[in-house]
Amino acid sequence: MIREKGCPVSLVSPARTDDPWAAARAALEGLPDGGLNMAWEAADRHARERPRAIAVRWTAPDGRAGCVTYGALAERAARFAGALEALGIAPGTSVFGLLERGPAQVTAILGSLRAGAVYAPLFPEFGPEPLQTRLAGGRAAAVVTSVALWKRRLSKVIDGLDPRPEVLVADADGDPPAGTHDLRALMDAAEPCTLPVATGPESPAFLQFTSGTTGQPKGALHVHEALVAQHETARSVLGLTPDDVFWCTADPGWVTGLVYGVLAPLSVGCTVVVDTGDFDARRWLHLLGEERVTVWYTTPTAVRLLRRAGVDFVRGHGFPHLRRMFSVGEPLDATAVRFGEEAFGLPFRDTWWQTETGAIMIANAAGDMVTPGAMGRPVPGIHAAIAHKRDDGGLDFVHAPDTVGDLVLWPDWPSRFRGYLDAPERTTRCFADGWYITGDLARRDAEGRFWFVGRADDVIKASGHLVSPFEVESALLAHPAVAEAAATGRPDPVAGQLVIAHVALNPDYAPTDEQRRALLAHARKRLGAALAPREILFRDAMPKTRSGKIQRRVLQAEDPGSAAETPATQG
Ligand code: AMP
Repeated sequence: MIREKGCPVSLVSPARTDDPWAAARAALEGLPDGGLNMAWEAADRHARERPRAIAVRWTAPDGRAGCVTYGALAERAARFAGALEALGIAPGTSVFGLLERGPAQVTAILGSLRAGAVYAPLFPEFGPEPLQTRLAGGRAAAVVTSVALWKRRLSKVIDGLDPRPEVLVADADGDPPAGTHDLRALMDAAEPCTLPVATGPESPAFLQFTSGTTGQPKGALHVHEALVAQHETARSVLGLTPDDVFWCTADPGWVTGLVYGVLAPLSVGCTVVVDTGDFDARRWLHLLGEERVTVWYTTPTAVRLLRRAGVDFVRGHGFPHLRRMFSVGEPLDATAVRFGEEAFGLPFRDTWWQTETGAIMIANAAGDMVTPGAMGRPVPGIHAAIAHKRDDGGLDFVHAPDTVGDLVLWPDWPSRFRGYLDAPERTTRCFADGWYITGDLARRDAEGRFWFVGRADDVIKASGHLVSPFEVESALLAHPAVAEAAATGRPDPVAGQLVIAHVALNPDYAPTDEQRRALLAHARKRLGAALAPREILFRDAMPKTRSGKIQRRVLQAEDPGSAAETPATQG
């Protein structure tokens, strides 16, 4: 059970006399017996009130498309939960999703939550090592996947897992690969549970792995109560209503796609657009118009790619229904905001949050004046501050405007993570004087807006995905030629940062182009495209601190491909 060995650290703040989230809590229905379940709020509630309303509309680059009503979605989630029950997957255990974007993925998310399981998303581009680490670390009881991903990825790691999780294949069509189950057949045979498993606000709901500088990725554990803040921010920040058509371009293998691509908008009852393809400027612009998207949530990487395509190119497409555009995940510089105004007639509104916060914390919310280059203001109910950490572990708060320091949050919002799975000491390290330390550096201006400055650690953000230097280095060190390895981020006009590996070779190996290619292929095979380094730089020796730690900052500064100004400091 995820709960049993889970996260012993209580992050609950001292008692408050007022509850700024009271209205948000009341906006959720709750289970008939008084509990709280995300899937109930995201599907069943609307299925009762508006069964024919479209919950999900999906499209594929090859022209296939379809839609699922709230009535059908609730039914599918109930059958999925029944299938888990039939396989003996107990509430509180973790169900991983290794799926392409699409309706089966939405069913797996809601069905797992409905069964009281802990849903853990995996990005389909992960190679065998990231998959193995997360499946083992999250104690997978089951994995939902597709035939293609089973063949390409999961089958390569499954036998190394002890105990071996059950594998449910969503598109097996009556012919599941050996050692797997046909999910559709199980769902057809299942007794759909009429009510979700009785979860409460503090029941574990999802486990999202995130990267740190040291150690393996950490599983941030979230509970069903997180939906209070997710639902509220969907309404108040993104301005969503049940009449909206909402498109969040993030993959639900990452936290933004899971929370704002599925849970939050469905809890509001709007129509969610899911595109199963990758970025393609022409197709994406076409989709915005064709799908009548009213609210769009995307990333600075996508904005930069659209800018490349040009203002006139964008203007050549029509989006008469688009009311608002938002961005998240990386710094959104002032030029990108203005590009939105020029090309779409609307600014891109920046929002800031992270895996651990579970919901948007700082934003240029719907209805607010947009300040180009600023992340915006804290969402109502969020207490954000700038502080400096003292040597004794305490905090000194910075009151002077425009002074850079750690961005810290008072941890009393409903969607805060409840800890890293099985790593209480890493959880404790995120807190000082009771405040949550985000790991980001920021400044606050005299008007109370927050501006992103950079990461306080060495974590790399490539195309909006957090990449742990440790994970990349571990894969490289497994190659016999590598004596020492360090991964750093190189500023890139499109991806934000590229992963660069610095390698010192063992004595018998020469720093040739062939060796470089061999190491790149090795890393790509183990890590997959999302985490693998783009370039290998050979060094005779690594710069080190006195205590012998490799100085990634020095390597980064000495990377000949690094420009003087990083995107993180723009705006
Ligand atoms: P993740 O946990 O993968 O969602 O990544 C969270 C991290 O992404 C944050 O700690 C920031 O470093 C970065 N990030 C998220 N939103 C923004 C933003 N609006 N501006 C700059 N960086 C951001």
